[in-house]
Amino acid sequence: MEKLRTVRGVHDLLTDELHKHNKVIDVGLEISDKYNYSQIETPIFEFSEVFTKPLGKSSDIVTKENYIFKDRSEDELMLRPEGTSGVVRAFLNAGLVQDIPQRFSYYGPMFRYERPQKGRLRQFKQLGIECLGLSSSMADIEVISLGYDFLDKLGIINQIDLKINTLGDFESRQKYRNALTTYFKDYQNKLSKDSIRRLVVNPLRILDSKDYEDQKIVRNAPNILEFLNIESKVRFEKICKGLDHLNIKYNIDKNLVRGLDYYCHTAFEFVTNKLGSQGTVLAGGRYDGLSKILGGPDIPGVGWAAGIERLALMISSDFVPVTDVVLMGQAESFNYLLLPIMKKLVQSGIKTEIIYNGNLSKKFKRANKIKASYAIILGEEEINKNVIKLKNLKLGSEEFLDLDQAIKRMRNE
Ligand code: ATP
Ligand code: MG
Repeated sequence: MEKLRTVRGVHDLLTDELHKHNKVIDVGLEISDKYNYSQIETPIFEFSEVFTKPLGKSSDIVTKENYIFKDRSEDELMLRPEGTSGVVRAFLNAGLVQDIPQRFSYYGPMFRYERPQKGRLRQFKQLGIECLGLSSSMADIEVISLGYDFLDKLGIINQIDLKINTLGDFESRQKYRNALTTYFKDYQNKLSKDSIRRLVVNPLRILDSKDYEDQKIVRNAPNILEFLNIESKVRFEKICKGLDHLNIKYNIDKNLVRGLDYYCHTAFEFVTNKLGSQGTVLAGGRYDGLSKILGGPDIPGVGWAAGIERLALMISSDFVPVTDVVLMGQAESFNYLLLPIMKKLVQSGIKTEIIYNGNLSKKFKRANKIKASYAIILGEEEINKNVIKLKNLKLGSEEFLDLDQAIKRMRNE
């Protein structure tokens, strides 16, 4: 029979890779906790409007990349493509607006119908943080600092550059938008199809185009920094100053944007050249308009999301699968006696496997294969004397001990 396949862009995760994912998650949650961000978990699917309202009908995520479906009650649901909208929705629903600031961390699977390649999947995981209720530029600095420390703790910060930019406030962005539209209109017949569409809905998104020809045109596009009003300019300078205080190096990238309308002011990305074209490992910015779009009051927010798969590709693995001890009975009927022994070993924190099948030589082969450190062997003689045989598989030495002694021996006590 033909094997059942997984869906394109969706993968099983086995030991080593999964271990790396978990390490990224552990490090991310731990450093977030130290910055006083509390973990939150929101549903993997929601009414689609939670995502489509903020993202806008024209965004790639909504038009091309969405997993929208109707359930049996004809409700239109969407597998979440990102974490921020759900977190802000949850924050509003929980009535926390009176209790700001709120700091959240989260991780979990996201879903986007994209063209799969290395570091780009249809089901992928993100770990993110959101800081809600603070409009001060200090919050932006804090959030970037947390991202930096996360990558530092993963041991990869020296392979990563921080790019930042500002989108200014609404007024500055409006002026900039007009200037961009005028500029790009002159290149209309050279722009990619996607970008011609963006020219009408949101010219800022052309700056983010992955198309090579578009990128050539983008290079000489007007610079946002020249369109900032004084407040926006001062705000951006404060953020740069804060990063200087933290000794965090950054490059200002005038073409770095978040395409969505609710983003304002700070945009940043941590980027590596070690992963080919999928180089952005952590990206974020300020999204003061989001809460209102979701039906709440005007609550400012800033945060980021990191791609767990991309980070996992960068970290080294210290994962070596080992088993502390294997249990083997000389006859199959002894397997029952091995059960309470296993229970006690497990309770003592020893990683144990009973090898049920085969003769002793087969069992030793299995023990070798899983790199067990010890074997406990139970035969007629041991049962009569109420002891077990403990074999050190590295040294080949054997001892007859009672179980407590054996536990001590294995723990090096
Ligand atoms: P990209 O420009 O690579 O498409 P994006 O702007 O769509 O990224 P965000 O929505 O900002 O990405 O998501 C934050 C991070 O999540 C990205 O920087 C990346 O590390 C990761 N990410 C996004 N989409 C995918 C995907 N399809 N597969 C794996 N990781 C992803
Ligand atoms: Mg994308």
